[in-house]
Formats: sequence, C-alpha cells, structure tokens
Amino acid sequence: MQKYQLYIDGAWADPLSGEWMETMNPYTGQAWARIPRAGAADVEAAVEAADQAFTQGEWPGLNATQRGLKLRKFAEILTGEAERLAEIEVRDNGKLHAEVLNQCRYMAQWFHYYGGLADKIEGSAPPIDKPDVLNLTRHEPLGVCACITPWNSPLLLLAWKAAPALAAGNTIVVKPSEYTSASTLEFAALAEQAGIPKGVINVVTGLGEEVGQPLVRHKKVRKIAFTGGETAGARVNTDAAPGFKRVTLELGGKSANIVFEDANLDQAVNGAISGIFAASGQTCIAGSRLLLHESIHDEFLERLVSLAGEARIGDPMSPDTQVGPITTEPQYRKILDYIEIAKNEGARLVLGGGSVPAPEGNQGLFVQPTVFADVTNDMRIAQEEVFGPVLAVLRFTDDEEAIAIANDVNYGLAAGVWTESLRRAIKVSERLEAGTVWVNTYRSTSYTTPFGGYKASGLGRENGMEAIKEYLQTKSVWYYSGGDVANPYTRR
Ligand code: NDP
Repeated sequence: MQKYQLYIDGAWADPLSGEWMETMNPYTGQAWARIPRAGAADVEAAVEAADQAFTQGEWPGLNATQRGLKLRKFAEILTGEAERLAEIEVRDNGKLHAEVLNQCRYMAQWFHYYGGLADKIEGSAPPIDKPDVLNLTRHEPLGVCACITPWNSPLLLLAWKAAPALAAGNTIVVKPSEYTSASTLEFAALAEQAGIPKGVINVVTGLGEEVGQPLVRHKKVRKIAFTGGETAGARVNTDAAPGFKRVTLELGGKSANIVFEDANLDQAVNGAISGIFAASGQTCIAGSRLLLHESIHDEFLERLVSLAGEARIGDPMSPDTQVGPITTEPQYRKILDYIEIAKNEGARLVLGGGSVPAPEGNQGLFVQPTVFADVTNDMRIAQEEVFGPVLAVLRFTDDEEAIAIANDVNYGLAAGVWTESLRRAIKVSERLEAGTVWVNTYRSTSYTTPFGGYKASGLGRENGMEAIKEYLQTKSVWYYSGGDVANPYTRR
C-alpha cells in the first residue's frame, strides 16, 4: 500500500503524532494508501515554515512578475500531469474520471490567470484635499493563509484558493479532507518542480478537529479560505473571529433549477439531470430543487424520470459510467436518511429511492438516482442539503411564485433558469437570491468570474479579479513635503 508523508518547508516528513490513517477507494471499498494523521505539533511546524517563507528568503524577494512566472510554470507542469493527478483523485473520491480529468486539466488555468494578475495589482494615488501631501495606496499580502478543502473536488477547489493567495504574495498551509488527501500531496510535489520556494506551500493531512481547528486558531494564520459544509464552516468562522482573521467560506446550497413553460424542454431535461445526478449529486451547486411550471410538469417529469432511469451506474474510471459511488460512508448514510425523511414527509417517490450493490463484486457504496415529486417547499427535502443524487420536484403557477419558492430557503449559492424569453431571463435572474445564476445552462464555473454564496451559502468570493482582493490588505501611505506643523495638538 502506498504511504504518503506531510509536506512541510519543502521536505517530506512523517507526522510528529506518529499516527496514520487509511484512505479508501470509494469504488472498490478497499484502502489503497496510508495518509499521515497529523496533529497540532505538525500544524505548528507548517505554519512556522509558511511564516518564515513569507517574511524572509526567496519568496518575498521576488518581484511580482517573477512570482507570476513561477505560477505560470506551475500551470504548465500541472497540465502535463493532469492525467496522473486525475487517476489519483478518482481512486480517492470516486468521481467520474471524465469529469475529474477535465477539472485537472482546467485547474492549470487558475495559475495562468492569477500568475498573469500578480504584476497587475496596482495601488492608487488618491487626490488628497490637503496641501503638501502625496498619498499612495499599496495592496499588500496578508501572510500565512490556510486553505481547507473538501472531498468532492479536492484539487480544483484548492486551485481556486492557492492561485490567488500565492499571486498576491502570501504563503499557504493546506488541509485537505481526510478522505481525499493524496492528490493534494502530489500537487505539492509538483509545486517544488516549478521552483516555488520551500515553505510557500505546505500540506498537513488529518482530521478537521485535529488539524483544521488548530490551523484556523493559529495566531500566525491571517486568512482562512474554506470550502465544505455549513456546520464546519460556522465553526471555522467562530474560531477565526477572536483573531479577527479574514475568512472566505464556500458552503452548501439548495439551488433551484426553474423550468418555465416556454423552455426548450430537451435542453432543460439535460440541465436538470446534470444539475443533480452529475457527481452523484455530491456538489455544492447541485440543482437539488427542480421547479416546474404546472403546464409542463407532468410531461417534463416523465421525460426526466425516463432518462435518469437509464443512467449507467458503475466504475468511475469507465468512460461509459454516468453515476459513480458515494465518496464517504457518512455521506452515504446521510443520503439514505434523507430519502427516508422525504418518504415520511409525504413526498411521492417516482424514481430510485435506495442503495444499489456495487458492480463487479466491489464494496463501494452506491445510491440510485432518486426523484421525489409533489414536494412542498416546507419539507426538509426542499430545505436541507442532501449532497447526493436526490431531486426534489416542486410545481409553480407563475413567475412570482417560482421566484418566491426559489428564494424561500436559507441557502443562496446558485440557481438555474430555463426560458426562451430574454425579458423573463433578465427579470428572474435579477430577483434570485443566489451568487450564480445560469440561464439555459447549468454547472459552469470559470477562473474569470466570481463564485460564492448569498445567505448561508458563504462569505466572500472565489475566482475572477475580485478574488485576489480576498488575499490582500490595503495600506495608505502619506508623504508630507510641507514645512513645520503649525499646531501639533490639532488633527490635520
Ligand atoms: P466538512 O465541512 O466537515 O469538511 C470540509 C473540510 O473542513 C475538511 O477538510 C474537514 O476535515 C475540515 N474541517 C472539519 N471541521 C473543521 C474545523 N472545525 N476546523 C477546520 N476544518 C474543519 O465536510 P464533510 O466532509 O463532513 O461533509 C459534511 C457535509 O458538508 C456534506 O454532507 C455536504 O452537505 C457538505 N459539503 C459541502 C461541500 C461544498 O462543496 N460546499 C463539500 C463537502 C461537503 P475532515 O473532513 O478531514 O475532518
């Protein structure tokens, strides 16, 4: 079995705790590697290394162009290694190889984009209303940033954090999910090949409470960029507050995918399926509430159920597979619990509704694509994030009702709108309380455009020009060229 080590200060190290944990292949159900189960002492070493790398040595000595070039070199290496990284990630999280390979290839763009942005972080010279003063602003890095990532897209979501953090001149300590740490350790090895100086990227693996929490609370950590569930997200926010640390939180969602009566139904059926069954629904942007106009409700539901019912369940490495395993056992149990909750609430089960044995005698955990109709928005299945292949279908009569249902939820990560009317698309998308709205498409993200949540779906934004500001602080510098101070006891 493969054995990994921690990556701290440019070196591979066993955990000071002396403890290890096994990482599982969600398809076979077998352990395939050993990962360090680190603790607070390892976190201390990693933060110390990151702090040293931030304050002295090669990294702060690079100018912004040189820093950007290193990130772009890293992007090239990542592109060359995309296939290998994708295989490791599929082995660890069970997501479809086709999707993970796309993600691993695409992630290099974050390092190209933010590498290019590194030397375009410009201050300003505000016109000051006082004589003999030159005022300049500078945007400076924060210091050590913690990047805490989940199991559903470990590398892509790390790229969303690491690329802007490093482009801004910070150093990072990464804490990947205990279930999917291997690809992040491989990523760190590639950063070394790109010539990113030691201590700039550090990886500490282990549990949320044993590694994540001491990392968030560490006094030298100035910023936490977190993706995960709302319970852990709230904990991170609370733990960061006494130190007045910056926090970016990308949390869950219960996104409405709204199909109006004038939609192209073929496209919308595909959009609804990609919204909930891709990645077995284990995605924060899942369109887990499907809102159907009453006039197309029955026909749409029939088409959706017929298509989703044909989904091929199987080995995530196979190009023919459409629905892969559930990544973790707690997640599997949670999904099955929600299916029972929905049944008990009176939702009408029209597809799936249970587990399926893993094909080929494997031990992986699979859940059938599941659809509940006749869901009302007060049901838990309409309000709470399942993070699995479980769709709640609701009915609406007009645009006002669709908007009201879509917004009547704690979350606000994303929404989909299916209509051929430009007027309706504009009006509805303006009124939806969601950080991303897709019109006649679903589940697209890019390095160029901001991503983040309204309401309980999070704080701050990742991606796009805006995201770099999450890793910078502004300093205003006053240069005085006048004579003596007339009265030192009054404010200028
Ligand atoms: P978590 O939110 O618990 O985990 C996300 C990351 O945070 C992991 O690396 C985890 O470590 C770490 N973490 C956990 N607790 C703390 C803490 N107190 N301080 C710092 N870091 C911490 O997700 P789960 O894997 O437990 O999934 C639970 C639910 O979260 C899912 O059912 C789903 O609803 C949602 N989720 C949302 C995601 C999204 O993309 N928005 C992604 C994944 C899950 P570790 O797990 O290793 O202990």
